[in-house]
Formats: sequence, C-alpha cells, structure tokens
Amino acid sequence: TKWVYTFGDGKAEGAGEMRNLLGGKGANLAEMANLGLPVPPGFTITTELCTHFYAHGKTYPAELQSEVEAALAKTGQIAGRIFGDDANPLLVSVRSGARASMPGMMDTVLNLGLNDVTVEALAKNAGDSRFAWDSYRRFIQMYSNVVLDIDHHNFEDILEEYKDRKGYMLDTDLQEADWRAIVGQYKECVARESGKPFPQDPREQLWGAVGAVFSSWMNQRAITYRRLNGIPESWGTAVTVQAMVFGNMGDTSATGVAFTRNPSTGERELYGEFLINAQGEDVVAGIRTPQNITEVARAAASSDKPSMETALPECFREFVRVTQLLEKHYRDMQDMEFTVERGKLWMLQTRNGKRTAKAALRVAVEMATEGLISREEAIAKVEPATLDQLLHPTIDPKAERNIIATGLPASPGAASGEIVFNSDEAESLKAAGHKVILVRVETSPEDIHGMHAAEGILTTRGGMTSHAAVVARGMGKPCVSGAGTIKVDYNQGTLVAMGKTLRKGDIITIDGSTGQVLQGPVAMLEPELSGEFATLMSWADEVRRMKVRTNAETPADARVARNFGADGIGLCRTEHMFFEGDRILAVREMILADDEKGRRAALAKLLPMQRKDFAELFEIMSGLPVTIRLLDPPLHEFLPHTDAEIAEVAQAMGASVEKLKSRAAEMHEFNPMLGFRGVRIAIAYPEIAEMQARAIFEGAVEAGKKTGKPVTAEVMVPLVMTKAEFDLTKTRIDAMATAVEKETGVKVPYMVGTMIELPRAALRAGEIAQSAEFFSFGTNDLTQTALGISRDDAASFLGPYTTKGILPADPFVTLDQEGVGELVRIAAERGSKTRPGIKLGICGEHGGDPASIHFCEEVGLDYVSCSPYRVPIARLAAAQAAL
Ligand code: PEP
Ligand code: MG
Repeated sequence: TKWVYTFGDGKAEGAGEMRNLLGGKGANLAEMANLGLPVPPGFTITTELCTHFYAHGKTYPAELQSEVEAALAKTGQIAGRIFGDDANPLLVSVRSGARASMPGMMDTVLNLGLNDVTVEALAKNAGDSRFAWDSYRRFIQMYSNVVLDIDHHNFEDILEEYKDRKGYMLDTDLQEADWRAIVGQYKECVARESGKPFPQDPREQLWGAVGAVFSSWMNQRAITYRRLNGIPESWGTAVTVQAMVFGNMGDTSATGVAFTRNPSTGERELYGEFLINAQGEDVVAGIRTPQNITEVARAAASSDKPSMETALPECFREFVRVTQLLEKHYRDMQDMEFTVERGKLWMLQTRNGKRTAKAALRVAVEMATEGLISREEAIAKVEPATLDQLLHPTIDPKAERNIIATGLPASPGAASGEIVFNSDEAESLKAAGHKVILVRVETSPEDIHGMHAAEGILTTRGGMTSHAAVVARGMGKPCVSGAGTIKVDYNQGTLVAMGKTLRKGDIITIDGSTGQVLQGPVAMLEPELSGEFATLMSWADEVRRMKVRTNAETPADARVARNFGADGIGLCRTEHMFFEGDRILAVREMILADDEKGRRAALAKLLPMQRKDFAELFEIMSGLPVTIRLLDPPLHEFLPHTDAEIAEVAQAMGASVEKLKSRAAEMHEFNPMLGFRGVRIAIAYPEIAEMQARAIFEGAVEAGKKTGKPVTAEVMVPLVMTKAEFDLTKTRIDAMATAVEKETGVKVPYMVGTMIELPRAALRAGEIAQSAEFFSFGTNDLTQTALGISRDDAASFLGPYTTKGILPADPFVTLDQEGVGELVRIAAERGSKTRPGIKLGICGEHGGDPASIHFCEEVGLDYVSCSPYRVPIARLAAAQAAL
C-alpha cells in the first residue's frame, strides 16, 4: 500500500478524483498542482491510513515513517528548505481533510517546525524578528491545544495579563521582546500543564500533530457532525502536510478567502475578503475588518480601505486568472483560500462553495446559459429540498434566535403570531385582524378552521405524518410537531418551555424548516420565485418521465398546485371537506343515524355540497386527471363532543340527546387506525359510497359542460385488503356511473382503482389488478402497517431510532426502501403482470420526498403525488431521478 502522496511544482502523485483516498482538501491540492497553479508543496497521508490507525490500536504501519521522510525531503527540495534544519528550516502546516467537508470539526496546526533555534533562523530569513516570535507563540498555543490538550484559556490569560501589565491595547502593540517574553511564559505553562517541556524536536512535533489529527476523527464534535450529516465513520480523514507560506510578512503579504460567485445571491462576481499582513485565522477571528477583493465591491461597500485590486494589483490579476481557471475546471462555483507572501500568490485550498438555495438556482441556470455546464448538469446541481426555502417566508439568517424548544420540522416556512390554544378562538382572532399561531397538544379534523386561520401550527405530540403535519403541508403553512418539551395547559391558557411560562396572546415564532420554536417575533424574508426558478423548472419538465400530481381537496390548494405545475390531483381526501362551513352537522346526522333511511336523509343534504366541491376541482384541473378517494377515516372522528354539539345534532335529527350519546359511545374504538374505516365503511354503509360516486359523476358532467372539455375522473377506494371488498364497491360505483349517464345523457370517462396501503393488498396485487384499473400506494398507512408503528404516536419513541442509526431515516418521511419498498415493488410487479400498463402512483407523504422519488422512478411508477408546496421539489427530484 502507498500511504503518502506528494504534490508541488506543477505536478502531483494524486488527482482531483481521488477524494476518497486523499480527502477533499488533499485531492483538490493535488488537482491544483497538476493544473500548474501556485500551490505550496506538500504531501497527503491517506484516509486508508486513518482506517489502519484505528484498526491497529492507534499505531502506524512500519513503512509509513520512511514514506513520510521521503515526502518531507521532496517538499523541502521544492521549497528550497530542509525540515529540521537549524539554518534554513522548512516549516509546515498539518491539516485534516475528510471526503466530505466538515468545516471546523477537526484540528489544524500551523507553523510546525519552529523551536528555540529555528525561530532565530526564521527571523533572519524573513528579516523580521517580531514576525518570527509572533509565529512561534502562535505555534506553541495551537500545538499545545491540539496535541497536548491544554486549553486555550491558559494562553489567553497569559497574554491578557501581560498586555494589562504593559498597558497595551492591541496585539499589534507587542514587539519582538514582548513576544519573546510571552513564548517563555507559554513554555512554562506547557511544562506545568503537561508535565513535560514543549517538544523542541520538529520530527516529534510532526508525529504528534499527525497523530492528533487522526485522533480528532473520533472527537465528540466530529462524531456529532457526522451523525447530523450522515457521514460514515468508516470514511476516515486524510492528513495534509504542506510547506508554510506566510501572509503576515509585512505589507506585501496578505491572506484571504473568496468565491467565484456570490454565495448568497449567486451573482457572477468575485466575492470575498482579505487582510494585509495577516495569517488565516485573523480573517476568520474578526478582530480586524477585512478588506474587499475587487474595486467594485469596495466602492459598493463605500469602504475606505483599499481593495486587493489596488493594494496588490499584480497578485490580483493573477488571482482572477486562477479563479476563472478553477471554476471552468471544476464546472462549479469555487470557494478558495489564498495567501500572498511578499507579493507572490499561493493557493491553499479550493472546493465547491456552499450556497443558499437562491444562489444555487441562479448559479446553475447561469452556468448552463454561459455554456459552462449542460442543462442536465444544472438540474443535478440544485438540491430539490432547498427549493422549500424559496417557496415560503423564512427567518432572516441575520436575525437573533431565542429558541425555547425544538420539535419536528413538519411543514416548512416560518411564521410569527400570538399564541392561541383553540381553533374557534384562532378563527375569531384572525377575523379581528390578529395573526395567531395555533398551539395544540395535537390536532384533529375538527381543527381545520383553526389551522386555516392560523399563520402556523405548533403541536407537542405527533410525528411527521400526524394530522397537524399532513394538513399543514397541504395548506402550505409552517408547522412544528411533536415539540415534547413544551407543556401546554389548556385550562390556564399557558405553555411552559425551558422554564418560561408564556400566555395566550404572547408572540412566538415557529420555524417549520428546522423545528425550532422561538420566543417573540423574528425578522423574515419573503419568498421570491425569480426567473431562474421558472427556467430550471422548465428544464426539469423536459427530462422527467414521471408525472407530478398533488394531494389537494380545497379549490385554493388545487389552484396553488396547478400554479406550481402539478399534472393533476393524485389524492383528494374527501373527508377534509366535511368540516367546511356547517356541513359537519349533516355529516354527524349521517353517522349517528341508526338506520339506512336516516342515513340516506342526511346523505341527500351532503350530495349537492360534494357535487359542487368536485365540479370545482375538475374545473380547476381541467384537462388533467383528478383522483377522488371515497371516505376513509374512522367515523368517530366526526362525532360531536360537547353537550351543545350533541344537542344541535339531536335537534336536527329529531332524536333525543340520550339516544345520540349512547349511539356515539357505541362507536368508540380501541384502535381506530385499524378499525372501522376505509373501504370497510363502504361495505357496511354502501349508500355513503354511492352518494360520493354520484357526486363525482354529476360534478364531472357539470364541469365538462362549463369548460367544454371532457373530465377524466379516477375514483379511488381506500384501505382495501381483498379483491372481494374492492369488487363489491366497484359494482356500486359502476352502477352509479350508468345511472348518471342515463339521467344526464353524458358519458363520463372514468376509472376505478384502489389504494395499496395494507401489506395484504400489496401481496395480493396480482388478483386485485384483475378489477382495479389503477393503484395508488398509500405509503403512510403502508409504513404504519408494515412496520407496526403508529403514525400518530411515533414521535415519542422514534427519535433514538434515527439518532442511534437503527433506522437510517424517519420512515414516515423517507420511504423504508428495504421493507415497505419491497412491498411496493411486489405490488407493482404483480399488478403489472395481471394488467399490463396498469397506472401506478404514490400519494403517501413520501411522494414529495426526493430520496423516495428516486425509488419511485426505479420501480417505474407513473406519477408521484404530494402536497401543493412540494410540487416544484418533486418536479426537480423526478427530473434528477430520470437523468
Ligand atoms: C396513505 O396512507 O399513504 C394515504 C395517502 O392516505 P392517508 O394519509 O389519508 O391515510
Ligand atoms: Mg391511508
């Protein structure tokens, strides 16, 4: 095995594509050297060595030492210096570099090789003793902290105490003699804290630093960062040792960072900052105000400090040339670090720059327009999930966040408003012109009006597919769900979070993109669907194979989705309309009726309302398919609760309160999600399905007349487990279609299909497809039933499953491809075998999740269906999946 790869002087043993072996930093340095760019020489010890190091009790293979010696000699040769030499010492930096960038997570040591002797040589060679001793004290502090584990404050205290004693204000007030004195005190501190003198042997220093960087792969910070960013521990880090160049050797030296494009707006401009006579950490530390790189930027900022363009014109021109070359070479926006040592430019690092969603869009579209990349590459460059940031108001990144709790990021966007604890009050406050946040332990279908009225929804219980989460996403409203550390007291009208008591009327802000709950109002940024957004979407539409439909039931949602480019409705949950206006009364009459006659009387009241709803949806989606699902949820969800509500229904039905109470009690279920719901309602009370089917067909006739275009209705049966259930229901629907045709003289083209959302249905899909004309995978229920995890209760125990890596992700957010995915695959295969070309879709929440959308493409589904605000995300993800 080769453990060490050198670079410098216009060539390298490694290359850019070796990032797994050399880490991002090492690979890019090799690549820059190969491109002939000015890179200080050095070498990279591979990530494989990191793996070896941990597999062998933190020891190195025998041959490593000689490989490192040879690389040191070569580095010194190129730099014209010798490592460990007293008169002409080579000084180096030692840095970590993993495959994926882990900013600030692991350790770095600069100025390594300095000791009591070489510091004098540095002073002589640089012609600057103050600089040499300043470098030495920085080295002692960094090395002691990283390698010897001595806390920074020890050194900071010494420096502060010294400055106080001498009456100095700034570090720049200290002269050579001062730094000499400080170095002396630092060394005493090291001896005291570590029990050993500060190591003077450069080789001992080097091995100490290399060991510390490899060890930092397992420090707590790095472990946490990896967990949060899904970086496997097995990747390991590389270590890069590189000849030092100094940006703090006087007024012709400098150091800085720059992007080839503006990382927040995406504008094509060299964007960055630098400091004359400084080392890298000074730019980051923010002690001195950095200067602009270009004259244009300086003028725009009306800064009185010279730009790099005027202060170091030669270097600036060379730097511009290098940045253009790098961007062209990497075909992406670059984020670069550089140093100028006495008028000579050195590149220390380049990588693809992190950027905001807005910048990502603009950069991708402009690069394709410039011809730098293809349209396909532009599509691949934008992370679909980040589009969320562009579709909703977001918290101004500059705003201060006073976080009082963190729940699940259930529906993106941010909102501020007064706390309100019940839906009626939310509605009346909204009507009075207030902005409110609805705070509930959990929500139920009865809260729809409160959710409509609220700017955002906060629940303390429930997961990513809880009622609050699903409905909020559908409405495009921010929602934080399952914020379990908040204690809500409805009676007192208070909530307690982090020891603070907030009352009804107090302002809070929720950030549905992060799950944070903040006290008080916070500054927001409004969404802006710029030209690039539309452009990238149109490119995505050209390449995607799958259609993207939406889950919508209200006209408002349907219009939003159509504006976002939906190809139709994939799921209309009819029950959501049952709470609109005063319909609930008729719904309750229907449920509480104790015979068919009573039910039919109530259904007759509901029919015109439903017909109007469906006609409106068909009209909005004119020319596109619309899937309407029969009533699905457990009936008791619609029952009256308060005495007043019961009395109201009793009066409407002409029945006694007592009778209704006992009827309602009969409907109690221990496990409603596995209870009287879905197709089971149509089996027990076929007249309900018949009324809905009639409303669908009559609505289609009405919409067809209005728009002059035929409507394609897709009628969907929920929670089917056997073919017989489906057949019984389909017969009723077909009969109703015939009846409506006879009555109106209009033939409505329609299909009858089924949800596949129970494991048995997936397994028996071959049989069910004999009569079902389409399948729509209800992966919310399919996940719930395949995993045996309640979708409404998951939040209280699922946390450790993802943090401990038992499950790779929340299965209600990202499809469990191995388990639930296999059921989907089986059903798709068996269904297609029986009925070649059977239309296949997905309408569970996974239909809007990019990773799950890739899976849907793989399985060959015809469409995904998701909440309106996810339609653009799904369009982009579907395009990426098709590439
Ligand atoms: C599903 O189960 O995935 C589905 C879409 O239906 P619902 O969420 O309404 O149960
Ligand atoms: Mg379902």
